[in-house]
Amino acid sequence: MPQLDVETARRKAWEHANLCVRELRGELDEETQKKLIVRLMDLFATHFLSPKAIGSVQEVSELAGVFEPPKTLEATDVAQMLAEAKCILRGHFELLSGLHTHYFFRFGNLARSCDRIADDIVARLAGKARPEAILVPTSAGAMLGSVLGRELGASVVYADVNERGRPVGIRPGSRAPHGTRVLIVNDMITTGGGVKHLVDIALAQSWDIAGVAVFAVRGEHPDEILREATTGIGYDVYATAKLRLPAYPKDRCSLCQQKVPLYRSANLNR
Ligand SMILES: [Zn+2]
Repeated sequence: MPQLDVETARRKAWEHANLCVRELRGELDEETQKKLIVRLMDLFATHFLSPKAIGSVQEVSELAGVFEPPKTLEATDVAQMLAEAKCILRGHFELLSGLHTHYFFRFGNLARSCDRIADDIVARLAGKARPEAILVPTSAGAMLGSVLGRELGASVVYADVNERGRPVGIRPGSRAPHGTRVLIVNDMITTGGGVKHLVDIALAQSWDIAGVAVFAVRGEHPDEILREATTGIGYDVYATAKLRLPAYPKDRCSLCQQKVPLYRSANLNR
């Protein structure tokens, strides 16, 4: 079901609440009926405006694709994968960056597809020197990092993240010697900020950075974001999927203007 605007949601909620109370008409006085309708209407409206997962392959394929040239995963494979795992939620969200968006992406739902994603990334790395270690944050990207480590025969080093999901340093006991050739891995790039933190951590350890690999790049123009991230980070970025999920500063967010309830991504990731 597409996201409803507030007016439509409230009208539908009003109709549903009236239908519910109509059946109890003989048993309740008028005052109680009115109170019940108002209470039910709030509940229905909240339900209609809450985030909904997109399960249709066709709808997902309008939002997701793959970077050219495709490797082991085609755009249709990615669309099917994301629809089946219900990875994209439609609603009103605030991302960790503070930007607002109509779509939330749950990489954690793709656990069962990590092997296929890792195969595609390995194919994209073909011809490059193999990394000796993977650096991955302990957030959603960790499972992809461990599968890639296994496929590439590389050790896995974890970076701890703060409450905003930003990598802050190497997890105690998780280390690699100076000069280790390291591939930085994460679930996706939105602004490149999270990956930049990982690059700084790797440089502080005097590791040799082999590049950055992510499942997806999300934003209105993923190709541009990938180009800018590559330039900004200064290393090659390997990515499988493009997620055309725009985000806006909150003063330009149409859902804020319609007063649609806001969900914070920090809460949804838990
Ligand atoms: Zn908003």
